[in-house]
Amino acid sequence: MTADTVKDAFFIGGAWVPATGRAPIPVIDPSTEEQVASVPAGTEEDIDAAVAAARAAFPAWAATSADERARLLAATADAIEARTDEIARLISTEMGTPLSFSVAVQAGNPVRVLRSYAELLSTFAFEEQIANSLVVKEPIGVVGAITPWNYPLHQVVAKVAAALAAGCTVVLKPSEVAPLSAFALAEVFAAVGLPAGVFNLVTGVGPVVGEALAVHPDVDMVSFTGSTLAGKKVMAAAAGTVKKVSLELGGKSAFVILDDADLGKAVKVGLGNCFINAGQTCTAWTRMLVPADKHDEVVSLVREAAAKFTVGAPGDEGTRIGPLANANQYKRVLDYISTAIDEGATVVTGGVERPEGLDRGYYVQPTVLTGVKPGSRIEQEEVFGPVLAVIPYASEDEAVEIANDTPYGLSGGVFSADQERALRVARRLRTGMVDVNGGRFNPLAPFGGYKQSGNGRELGEYGLEEFLEVKSLQL
Ligand code: NAD
Repeated sequence: MTADTVKDAFFIGGAWVPATGRAPIPVIDPSTEEQVASVPAGTEEDIDAAVAAARAAFPAWAATSADERARLLAATADAIEARTDEIARLISTEMGTPLSFSVAVQAGNPVRVLRSYAELLSTFAFEEQIANSLVVKEPIGVVGAITPWNYPLHQVVAKVAAALAAGCTVVLKPSEVAPLSAFALAEVFAAVGLPAGVFNLVTGVGPVVGEALAVHPDVDMVSFTGSTLAGKKVMAAAAGTVKKVSLELGGKSAFVILDDADLGKAVKVGLGNCFINAGQTCTAWTRMLVPADKHDEVVSLVREAAAKFTVGAPGDEGTRIGPLANANQYKRVLDYISTAIDEGATVVTGGVERPEGLDRGYYVQPTVLTGVKPGSRIEQEEVFGPVLAVIPYASEDEAVEIANDTPYGLSGGVFSADQERALRVARRLRTGMVDVNGGRFNPLAPFGGYKQSGNGRELGEYGLEEFLEVKSLQL
């Protein structure tokens, strides 16, 4: 570890405030299983101090012009972009994504999202007239942001950029598993001149600092991204103060390949989506639904395509799947594969053995399963690893039924030679997002889920609206 990877202070009220109290939390490189950094474990008192700073900064920040907020967000985007390589390296080290992916996505997306909010502020209408009423949209207040480790900086920025654009002040509790890029963000905010107290950073474990934010009477809203289990706890903790809770949770999304689809293309798109970020993506299409009479053909295409997902160290050129992010996740994914086998699934490729030549690190083989029964655990529960189930269906209606029959509703995909037909099926999916025939990720489109995948939306205009209260003035 070097001095700059031992973090020993929180960013509160525009200054680095030394952490007191508990033992620091180690940050582990999942490709070596060795400690590479540490961050302080915050306490309830640290959250109190950060919330007080955010509360004190709120009136002045809420009163700034949209232009001023846009200027600071654009400057933040430029400063993050200038530190792309360093941020990409930090994220690859703390959670294992291939370096090229970290540059393009882990560091690249936050820049795009920050710029999108800077631009949106020049057109967004904070007021509208409805008959004799003037409706004004005002920042909700102090926001507690709690984020996961899988896209560590993107998940942070999706909340923080929108909240700051709205005129809110923020206390961020990033994932304790991948916290390092949040420190870089705090440094950038200080460097671009964001007023003191507008953004505050406290690291620590969820049940302590996350919960302290959720119950805090001076926090007006909690924006949470993470597992459905923790999201339920946050919602329950927040209920005592009736604060707004916005949740981006897990998924078990389906990719429906219709019987007229180009199977080769569909398999390529579907597998790419399922295995992106070693399958540690909330929107991953982990169930590939295929016409029963094309099942075997699809399985052999999937086997061939899966072989191209080279597993390796994040820094190696050619690596498409790095290690899983941490020891818990590694164990969890292997347990799910074993359970699936116990439940009668067949391993087409992959399995629980270590990938060849990788004796250390949380590496798993990209795994494809068949014979997965609707209703079984592997079919219903989020695995969060590179594991795909290929499931046959007898009719379009049955495909829709299987796709919708989980507690989740985050994402999905439909592939067909007929765009109208694909759209018709997409409309029937009870899910917040569907990519039709490989439609690209759109950072301006609302991002979020139905059912137990959550209850809010991030990104673009919908993401901004989350952080606004609506007041009607009758004239
Ligand atoms: P997690 O729920 O374990 O942790 C997420 C965050 O919540 C962390 O900062 C953690 O410290 C905190 N936390 C944990 N328990 C808490 C509690 N009781 N009170 C308050 N905060 C608490 O999730 P994870 O393992 O970091 O991330 C993986 C999960 O995140 C997956 O389920 C994935 O689907 C989900 N996710 C969802 C989205 C989305 O946008 N829908 C995006 C990315 C990840």
